[in-house]
Amino acid sequence: MSLIVQKFGGTSVGSLERMKHVAERVMKTKEQGHNVVVVVSAMAGETNRLVSLAKQIQENCEGREYDVLLATGEQISVALVAMWLKKLGQPACSFLGHQMRILTDSAFSKARILSVEGHDSIKATLRRGEVVVAAGFQGVDVHGNITTLGRGGSDTTAVALAAALKADACEIYTDVDGVYTADPNIVATARKIDRIAYEEMLELASLGSKVLQIRSVELAANHHVPIWVKNTFTDNPGTLVCHEDHEMERVVVRGVSCSRDDVLFSVRRCNNQTATVVKLFGALAKANIVVDVIVQNVALGGHLDLSFTVPKDDLSHAREVVKSVLPAIGAEGITVNNDMAKISIVGVGMRSHAGVAAKMFAVLEAAGISIHLISTSEIKISCVIDRKHAELATRVLHDAFELGQGGLSKARVKTSEPRPKR
Ligand code: ASP
Ligand code: MG
Repeated sequence: MSLIVQKFGGTSVGSLERMKHVAERVMKTKEQGHNVVVVVSAMAGETNRLVSLAKQIQENCEGREYDVLLATGEQISVALVAMWLKKLGQPACSFLGHQMRILTDSAFSKARILSVEGHDSIKATLRRGEVVVAAGFQGVDVHGNITTLGRGGSDTTAVALAAALKADACEIYTDVDGVYTADPNIVATARKIDRIAYEEMLELASLGSKVLQIRSVELAANHHVPIWVKNTFTDNPGTLVCHEDHEMERVVVRGVSCSRDDVLFSVRRCNNQTATVVKLFGALAKANIVVDVIVQNVALGGHLDLSFTVPKDDLSHAREVVKSVLPAIGAEGITVNNDMAKISIVGVGMRSHAGVAAKMFAVLEAAGISIHLISTSEIKISCVIDRKHAELATRVLHDAFELGQGGLSKARVKTSEPRPKR
């Protein structure tokens, strides 16, 4: 008998009424002859409520007790969804993270799954014809502590269970139809993407399209688990996230994404030696701060100017760290720009097409948008711009690369021979 893992997010289980709808949806899948493991998130708003309770006691409250608190949201959901299933005549059994032996490391509030050891009891439950209702977002470490997987972590639970149980499909149900070419709230012509490569999804997820937790995509790619992103409230086919194939490379740009989650640091007049970047970025790394775009510049007079972006949440921590190394790198001072956005275009087809970056820059220029920093990877080009231009930039790029309704056309850039993959 085939096995399908279905994960329902906070809005899908946001009320008792909605949970009933989830139960009915699950029963339909069961009636079609599949075994089902349902993974659920906390009810919409619940995790935020718990976070704010903890923060009222202490601002930096991450740790063992914080995870004990946050994990309760999912405990409520599994119990209620299992109750609905039973009431509607479908035998079901709820499971918490420790009952499924979802083993993680001990990094509270951002734990990583190491293994899923409880498949025997899950499988035994399925064999009895019951639906397994699994709590997302939570695990247990080797010492028996409850851990949580980071915000949005129920996606990762679903993928981990699908991989461990060798499920035939992993479906992530949410309140939108799938993954879009751009944020539909900004671009009216944004189109749902039918198929997207893991790599593209990783870039889009890290760039601010918050449909899937990044780790769930990494895990799915590593374990070859295809993910369907679908809408709980419609029967639309959704978006398939899977390995890249030849067909996908023909599309140059898959999507445009804009992130407002970073701040821009500039450190002026540093000593012009490699030791400067070693000290500066070494200190940030030691403080566990992720640096994204980095630009270094030799100014007139031979000094080094450095600019880089860090997550907004790390602003004050990063400022302290940078300040502490200023004397060691001979720098004059720092400025922090909190008014920036990062606009990016993503697509595996960029590997084999020339002229994509040039076109992006020209389009932004024509719209009167100045570019402060640029960074690129094989399949992504990002530009740091003023935040006030974020929406305009998204729209003009979406248009210029013809991503809108009517289909993803091949953007008009030169097609070169595909470059060998690295
Ligand atoms: N309830 C958790 C959160 O709000 C996990 C999840 O929804 O995936 O982040
Ligand atoms: Mg989510």
